[in-house]
Amino acid sequence: MVSSLESSIGTERKLVTELPGPKSRALHERRKGSVSAGLTNGFPIYIERASGAILQDVDGNQILDLGSGIAVTTIGHAVPELIDAVSAQVAAFTHTCFMVTPYESYIEVCEELAALTPGTHAKTSALFNSGAEAVENAVKIARLATGRQAIIVFDHAYHGRTNLTMALTSKNMPYKDRFGPFAGEVYRVPMSYPFHDGLNGPDAAARAINMIETQVGAGNVAALLIEPIQGEGGFIVPADGFLTALSEWTTKNGVVFIADEIQSGFCRSGDWFAVNHEGVIPDIVTTAKGLAGGMPLAGVTGRAELMNAVHEGGLGGTYGGNPVAAVAALASIRTMRDRNLVARAREIGDQLLKDLTSLQQDVAIIGDVRGRGAMIAFELVQPGTKNPNAAAAKSIVSYCNSNGVIALSCGTYGNVIRLLPPLVITDEQLADGFAVLASAVRSAG
Ligand SMILES: *Cc1c(COP(=O)(O)O)cnc(C)c1O
Repeated sequence: MVSSLESSIGTERKLVTELPGPKSRALHERRKGSVSAGLTNGFPIYIERASGAILQDVDGNQILDLGSGIAVTTIGHAVPELIDAVSAQVAAFTHTCFMVTPYESYIEVCEELAALTPGTHAKTSALFNSGAEAVENAVKIARLATGRQAIIVFDHAYHGRTNLTMALTSKNMPYKDRFGPFAGEVYRVPMSYPFHDGLNGPDAAARAINMIETQVGAGNVAALLIEPIQGEGGFIVPADGFLTALSEWTTKNGVVFIADEIQSGFCRSGDWFAVNHEGVIPDIVTTAKGLAGGMPLAGVTGRAELMNAVHEGGLGGTYGGNPVAAVAALASIRTMRDRNLVARAREIGDQLLKDLTSLQQDVAIIGDVRGRGAMIAFELVQPGTKNPNAAAAKSIVSYCNSNGVIALSCGTYGNVIRLLPPLVITDEQLADGFAVLASAVRSAG
């Protein structure tokens, strides 16, 4: 059954209607009657099935996926090993609540998280449903373990949409506008953003640390929370030495260093975690997105003495670490290992950086090309300046969509195009996607 599904989809981008097609347009009209207008769809084609890097819509179009549902389907769509694991678990049992009657797969996921996250110290984990929930719990744990309250976050940061994580997130529109009041004791400092600030890593860290020490006071800080490569904020890769200097400062000052690896983790950056590129060892790591192949699962993994400082019953949630999601995570991690997706992410990144850098020579609107592994982006500018060009980003995304390629924008100014292909994408598919993207950029420029 699995193989017939795969063969019925095929591996090529193929359009049989205009996009969105008539069935998608009808569904999109129908959603108005029952789905909140507060939720938008980047590309309103309605999906029926998927395989590898290809999505098939209700009109029979085959779309090339360069977004992975925002860095979630890292191992690709309809991976047989994941289908088998999830199907067997659904048949066995779907829920007991780990806080009531536990099951082995929860422990196995926590063992994998301890083994894969950086550092050889004793670690324990707790599992949740979403990235925002993981970040909230990481903050709860850091506050309890340190007895302090202040949380340091960065410009352009994205940590979620719940009340606390809105406060931690930087960008107002659309995430925060009129949704306040927000949680307190959150302090924002400048990120290292080499394209715009020109600072080396240690200098950018000194700028942030000076602000923390003068405006908050090191002794009041429970945690410093950072995405090692910012995701929604624009795929901003900090200058070398920035994370190391911040990590050293947190260690010296009894501050918990929380790496939010929800987007950058699990092979995406060309390593298991993006902090590995600098050899930084966080006190706590939050994971979600790529962890469970599309099933909702998130983790908080940290030093045992921090994680175990919490009183009995202090952590939990009805669905957290759901058994179906847990076996999906185990199957995803196995797939990542078996197919060496860390190495594949690097190959994809090398190819994309090479292609984009050469495209940059031909057009005036690409200001910066950056990223690591299969987490690559380019920043669009007004020609001859570093001023944001969101109109170009919009036009590129829309050109790609009309031609059956999913590309996502991001950035505080909406002027960054990010590429997050499933790591099982073939060289032919990647070349095909890049060709569409390159024509999109040329026509926008
Ligand atoms: C997506 C994301 C989150 C929030 O995850 P949800 O599952 O959407 O709640 C938090 N942090 C980072 C870095 C993310 O990319």
